Amino acid sequence: MRDVIIIGSGPAGLTAALYAARASLHPLLVEGLESGGQLMLTTAVENYPGFRDGIMGPELMAEMRAQAERFGTETLRGDVTEIDLARRPFRVRTSEGELHARALILATGASARLLGLPSERTLMGHGVSTCATCDGYFFRDKPIVVVGGGDSAMEEATFLTKFASRVTIVHRRDAFRASRIMQDKARANPKIDFALDSVVDEIGDVDKGVVTSVVLRNIKNDTRREMAVDGVFVAIGHTPNTKLVAGQVDLDANGYIVTGRGSETSVPGVFACGDVQDHVYRQAVTAAGSGCMAAIDAERYLESLPADDPVAVVEDAGHAAV
Ligand code: NAP
Repeated sequence: MRDVIIIGSGPAGLTAALYAARASLHPLLVEGLESGGQLMLTTAVENYPGFRDGIMGPELMAEMRAQAERFGTETLRGDVTEIDLARRPFRVRTSEGELHARALILATGASARLLGLPSERTLMGHGVSTCATCDGYFFRDKPIVVVGGGDSAMEEATFLTKFASRVTIVHRRDAFRASRIMQDKARANPKIDFALDSVVDEIGDVDKGVVTSVVLRNIKNDTRREMAVDGVFVAIGHTPNTKLVAGQVDLDANGYIVTGRGSETSVPGVFACGDVQDHVYRQAVTAAGSGCMAAIDAERYLESLPADDPVAVVEDAGHAAV
């Protein structure tokens, strides 16, 4: 039985762990399959405060983890296979067995959808990016492509024109899913052009270890052309990692956890932080900030429980007493 179990080891989960550990809650952090979260897929991070010369994404995560562990966070490798929020204590099942927690912090993040090309994986952080805010700065006066046809693609393309010499939006159809206003803004931008009915078939150059080109294929006439670019921004949406709690906590229409006051979810004692509840900012620093909030909220929740609270008492009428 734990006071707090934290699920997820990105900036949100590790910051929650740091704060919970320093509050003597002896947190257990279950890493999840994508240990370290999305920053493990990046190279230089220049917008995390405190690192004047920037820091590599994996190094930042290693530092965060070491800091959380220094204060007593226990880390469990592996993934959670099942969560039961209907009973208290909450049940968390992993490949190693079942864990019980009086409070739970969900920091499972969101995964950027990817095109699925091997070259995309290899060149991730070396010209391929899923975050314009994070990486736009590296593409000053360079031509790039943005893949996608939703609001994210329009917004990121418009933002990236601050840096890039030319931005080509590559979209698999000739109609956009993006809202009219965002489309119009992109269309009116003289630095943006469009490759419609087109998909990225290949990203070069894996041998050089950096992006130098893309091969675009027009899916209507099946013609292929190579375009010299220095960057590929994949903006085809994110999938919040909420499968394990779907139907147990309130989610919004896109599957993100709804948080009310601070990090509170619809289930008392369950808190959410980071990208699993934020589809707007999605930054390491905002995730870390919300992780801090979740730990403080969890601490206050535990303090607020009556001294004789048996955490094992049935709160949900449909479940038997533990
Ligand atoms: P989205 O609306 O789901 O759009 C994803 C786009 O990527 C679609 O155009 C889709 O094409 C394309 N796509 C998906 N899988 C693909 C694949 N494998 N290969 C090529 N293209 C693929 O995602 P989003 O743009 O990230 O937006 C998510 C939500 O956040 C939306 O509700 C959006 O309105 C909101 N948002 C709002 C703002 C804002 O208001 N400032 C900014 C960003 C996002 P198809 O259209 O052909 O399916």
